[in-house]
Amino acid sequence: MKYISTRGAAPILTFEEAMLTGLARDGGLYVPETIPQMAAEEIAALAGLSYEEVAFRVMRPFVGDTFSDAEFGDIIAHAYAGFGHSARAPLVELSSNHFLLELFHGPTLAFKDFAMQLIGQLFEVALARRGERVTIVGATSGDTGSAAIEAFRGLDAVDVFILYPHGRVSEVQRRQMTTPTEANVHAIAIDGHFDDCQARLKDMFNDFDFRDGVRLAGVNSINWARVLAQVVYYFSSAVALGAPHRKVSFTVPTGNFGDIFAGYIAKRMGLGIDQLVVATNQNDILHRCLSTGAYQTQEVIPSISPSMDIQVSSNFERALFDAYDRDGAAVAQLMEDLKSTGGFCVSQGVQQRLANDFTSGRASEAQTTAAIAHWHQHSGELLCPHSAIGVHVAKAMRDNATPMITLATAHPAKFPAAVEAAAGLHPPLPERMADLYDRPERMSRVANDLSALKAFIEERITS
Ligand SMILES: *Cc1c(COP(=O)(O)O)cnc(C)c1O
Repeated sequence: MKYISTRGAAPILTFEEAMLTGLARDGGLYVPETIPQMAAEEIAALAGLSYEEVAFRVMRPFVGDTFSDAEFGDIIAHAYAGFGHSARAPLVELSSNHFLLELFHGPTLAFKDFAMQLIGQLFEVALARRGERVTIVGATSGDTGSAAIEAFRGLDAVDVFILYPHGRVSEVQRRQMTTPTEANVHAIAIDGHFDDCQARLKDMFNDFDFRDGVRLAGVNSINWARVLAQVVYYFSSAVALGAPHRKVSFTVPTGNFGDIFAGYIAKRMGLGIDQLVVATNQNDILHRCLSTGAYQTQEVIPSISPSMDIQVSSNFERALFDAYDRDGAAVAQLMEDLKSTGGFCVSQGVQQRLANDFTSGRASEAQTTAAIAHWHQHSGELLCPHSAIGVHVAKAMRDNATPMITLATAHPAKFPAAVEAAAGLHPPLPERMADLYDRPERMSRVANDLSALKAFIEERITS
């Protein structure tokens, strides 16, 4: 299995190389050269298997000969052993034919654990074999950073630096990043938005001297291995509801287009998906682009669903690459336009192609709050604000005959203030992390400035 860049001008890599590299050297994102297919019988045979077995069968063809079957099986087993639910990604029925896929039973209570726990194990095995170490730098709106720190804390071959927007993550998110005591973990509060953190991260990757000097590796949702890990729960949940014998639809609260893109890959592999619905908050660049063809960045407006407060949606580039018939030069041009003018327009043909795969909707702050209150009252289900956006949008988009699965991306206790304001109830943390508020915090505050960040990291890596 080979991986190519969405901008067509970077080296072609193996799975292992693409995973360790993150962002391609031409600024693009790695995607598989071809998408492996799963036949209906192979999908049917997933029924009744454990989550780990489904994960093995769905991901195996993408990994090539990077890992043996036995190694890959062990990696998957370790990745999901720390989850607080034996099904890993259980489905619950919210209302007739509308299901919630609970993706928040991992160690940091958000769906990012599915990918990050796997990536931690993949990196450890690959780096030990190569006798190398890497510096992981990530940008986070809250959940990626806590999941990355949890996955990499204490690993031998990795130093991990996480940039988060100062004052714009929830207290639980912040504490999950600032309370681990391992010396290889560094939480960095940046004076700026998430998009600033993401931009500085991209700057570091595009500074090849720095990148090679510290052996920079990326685990943001641009890393192909993360997208891959997320493909699994589309299969496990669809099969639980009758795939491949009937189609299902998914609604996905998204900002960076990572989670929904994993659903698109599942569809391309052969899973019978009817609708893939993109659900955004008031920072709705994806909804606007899918409805009008114009991808136009605006100011980020902080919301009660901070993990989706994004205006530059990195993974959308992967969808554009396919919509442009994998023409890397065309994608590179759009990204140039984005950089120089703050936006771009896709052609009508491309807009139509995107519309064949994705529909979209948005929820305002008031609609999000109302959805939390409504579902708590009517079903007893306490939704986190991100999941509530999904449920709100799903309700408007669904036809009642096709099962709709809304991805519940975080545990309500990760966003207690918004949940309490909406439902009048303080969501308690699960028992296993009840002492989070008592642990001492450790973080550094750094300016939104590339050279300051580079110096900070160079001083602290173990080489
Ligand atoms: C990261 C995150 C999202 C958005 O995920 P994308 O990678 O943008 O698709 C939604 N909800 C929660 C809770 C998150 O942590």
